[in-house]
Amino acid sequence: MIYLDYSATTPVDSRVVEAMSPFFNVSFGNPSSVHRFGQIAEAAIDSSRESVARVLHCKPDEIVFTSCGSESDNLAIRGAAYAMREKTGAKWILASRAEHPAVTKTLEYLGKYDGFLIEWLDVNEQGMVTPETVAKAICGDTAIVSVMYANNEIGTINPIKEIAEICRANNILFHTDAVQAAAYLPVDVNDLGVDMMSLGAHKFYGPKGVGALYVRKGTPLVPHLTGGGQEFNLRAGTQNVPYIVGFAEALRLTNEERDQRVAHVQPLRDRIIGSVLESIPDSRLTGDMGSRLPHHASFAFKDVDGNLLLTLLDAAGFACSSGSACKTGNPEPSEVMNAIGLSREWGLGSLRVTVGVQTTTADVDKFLSALPPLVEKARKLNTNK
Ligand SMILES: *Cc1c(COP(=O)(O)O)cnc(C)c1O
Repeated sequence: MIYLDYSATTPVDSRVVEAMSPFFNVSFGNPSSVHRFGQIAEAAIDSSRESVARVLHCKPDEIVFTSCGSESDNLAIRGAAYAMREKTGAKWILASRAEHPAVTKTLEYLGKYDGFLIEWLDVNEQGMVTPETVAKAICGDTAIVSVMYANNEIGTINPIKEIAEICRANNILFHTDAVQAAAYLPVDVNDLGVDMMSLGAHKFYGPKGVGALYVRKGTPLVPHLTGGGQEFNLRAGTQNVPYIVGFAEALRLTNEERDQRVAHVQPLRDRIIGSVLESIPDSRLTGDMGSRLPHHASFAFKDVDGNLLLTLLDAAGFACSSGSACKTGNPEPSEVMNAIGLSREWGLGSLRVTVGVQTTTADVDKFLSALPPLVEKARKLNTNK
C-alpha cells in the first residue's frame, strides 16, 4: 500500500514518539499539582510553550494548547466573536467560502444560535481570497476576518500578509487557519501580522489530538471551554502533557528541516501534476499552480465519481483522497469545488494526491502508471451523469 494522503494526516516522527514517551508513565504528574511530580510536568509544558514560541516568533504566553486544529479554530472564532461584540458591538464575521468545516460550521452556528452576521468571501478560480475582496467586504461593524493560510483540498496559499495588513489598518481581528500550511510554510506571526493562528500537530508528523492557537497579546478572547484556570484561563482541562511535548517537538523539527522537506516533496508534486495533466484526457489541476503547498497535487476529472475512483485506487494499493462528500446515492461536489466555480460534472471528480517525507520517486511512478486506466474505468462506471 502506498500512502499519498499526507494532507489528511501524517505518521508520527519516531523522534517525536521518543520525546513524548516519558510523560505517559514516568513523569506523569498533573502540571497543576504543587508537588515535584507536578513541577516536572509543568516544566515540560513550559519548555514546550517556549519551543513553539521560538518557531512562531512570539511570546510563550501567546500560545494556548488545545485538543486539535478544529478546537483552535473554534476557540479563535467563538472566543473573539463574543469578546468583540461585548467590546465594540461589532457583529459581522467574514470568512472565505473555501475554509475548512472547522471554520465554516462554527460560523454557521454563530449565525444560527448567537445572532452573528456572516459574510462569505468569494475566492477566485484558483481558490484564493484576494486582498481586494477583503478590503471591499469589511465595514465598521466587522469584528473578525478569518482566511486560511493554505487550503487543505486544493493546496492554494492565500496572501495572508496583505490581508492581515488590511485588517490591522481597520482595527479588525484577523484569524488564520494554518493547520495545513504549517508543515511547509513559515509561521512567523510577526511577519504574517496575524492576531490568531490555528495549528494542529498531526499534519506535521506530530500526534493526532493536540493543537495550538496563537493569540496576540491584547486580543480579546472569551474561553469556550470553561473550568480550571489552565492555559491562561482560555482552555480549561488538565493539559495533555505527552501530546503537548509531542506538538512542540514535531513543530521544532518541521521548522528545522523545512528546506530539506520542501526540496524532497516539491519535485514529486511537480512530477505528479505534469504527468496527470499530460496522460489523462479531460483532467485539470484544481487550485493555484504558483501559490501552492509544495507537497500538494489536486485534480478534477470530468465525468468521474471521485469516491469510486478512490475505491479503485485503494484496491490497487494507493491511498489518496477526494473533496466530494460521500453521500450514498446522491454525491455532491464539495463546497470548495463549488467555490472555485467547477460544474457538477467536474466537481464530483476530484482527487487529492499529497506526498510526504517518506514518499519516494518509485512510489510516485507506480501511482502515475496505475492512475490513467483507473480514471478510464471510473469514467465507464460513472452513474452521476
Ligand atoms: C486538518 C485541518 C483542520 C482540522 O484539524 P484537526 O486537528 O484534525 O482538528 C482544520 N483546518 C485545516 C485547514 C486542516 O487541514
